[in-house]
Amino acid sequence: MFGQVEAFAGDPILSLNDSFKADPRDEKVNLSIGVYTDEKGRLPVLGSVRAAYERLGFAERPYLPMEGHPLYREGVQKLVFGAAHPALTDKRVATIQTLGGTGAVGIAADFLAKHCPGRTVLVSDPTWDNHHGLFQRAGFTTATYPYWDRANRSVDFTGMLKALDAAEAGSIVVLQPVCHNPTGVDLDEAQQAAVTDVLVAKGHIAVFDMAYQGFGASLDEDAAFVRRYAERASCLVANSFSKNFSLYGERCGGLSVVCRDADEAERVLGQLKLAVRRSYSSPPMMAGLLVATVLGDEGLRAQWSREVDEMRTRMDAMRKRLAEQIRALSNEADASFLTSQRGMFSFTGLSEQQVTAMRERDGVYLVGSGRMCVAGLTEANVPKVAKSFVEASQA
Ligand code: PMP
Repeated sequence: MFGQVEAFAGDPILSLNDSFKADPRDEKVNLSIGVYTDEKGRLPVLGSVRAAYERLGFAERPYLPMEGHPLYREGVQKLVFGAAHPALTDKRVATIQTLGGTGAVGIAADFLAKHCPGRTVLVSDPTWDNHHGLFQRAGFTTATYPYWDRANRSVDFTGMLKALDAAEAGSIVVLQPVCHNPTGVDLDEAQQAAVTDVLVAKGHIAVFDMAYQGFGASLDEDAAFVRRYAERASCLVANSFSKNFSLYGERCGGLSVVCRDADEAERVLGQLKLAVRRSYSSPPMMAGLLVATVLGDEGLRAQWSREVDEMRTRMDAMRKRLAEQIRALSNEADASFLTSQRGMFSFTGLSEQQVTAMRERDGVYLVGSGRMCVAGLTEANVPKVAKSFVEASQA
């Protein structure tokens, strides 16, 4: 009956993670999958989240509403937009709790497919691969706008702006506002303003995918692009708590749609609920309670914010450390990209062949595109990674 079913090639990054686990070498280093690990190489359990968990205990488990836990949704709104944002005071933001950032982008794609069909979807070149997959699953054709300038290891801003301006009016444009995956390079404030002007002028629909809030500069600064944009125009904002709460497996995220007025937001919320109902009916309770408890309590919220700062500071320190060690080993290898890029990822500029050499010879795992997850670096493994990087670069 299912003889015609084709094999799934697997997700390249998740498959690489499986190869890492199966690698018998003691000194192996995983810089492939996008998870934050601490100085000991462990997934942290944040103190704020543990405190929330202990406070919650276990009670009855009714369904959450389709749109999620009310305090969670309020927490998402305040965190993403800032409590005093005019769109919030005007009550024109429709927010739902989602199954991680993936679920948020997926529901955004479903919502747009139904209510704004037939448009072109533009994503950055390169981007998180699932941007293509989720919008295609919803029925869209995806295309790219230039983003990565390989020669300068920075943003090809001229190319990006030109492509957004040349795109058909009313296109859907997916933007990562901070800690771009996979390149680690972001737009500066002036570039964000210029992109906003073009999107607004062309009537494009912006879909912000913010998976790393707090890992760039701070929780508030990282949301500045989204906040300023939402003062100018309607947009969709997907956010994830996987990384900044270290709650990967709980599937915590949010989708907010900024609307023209409160009445429109009410109708949009209804359609988001319908999209959820048709897909998985309602989001998980534990995810909702944990995040709602932290975000809804002043003390836990402050503690969490400090814990996000600690994760970011450690990643920044590891970037510096690796750059120093690379420079100490070689005058030729360029390591400046490590400290100019930010967030969990760096595009190293290494070729697939060089990445393969690092993996096979040294057990240092990067993604084939040359993406390195800097969150996997520790004081202990940096010397090994630096040596492997320099040898691969010179090969
Ligand atoms: N968007 C981007 C840009 C990401 O990098 C990721 C995580 N890799 C996601 C969305 C998905 O987030 P989550 O794991 O919360 O589903």
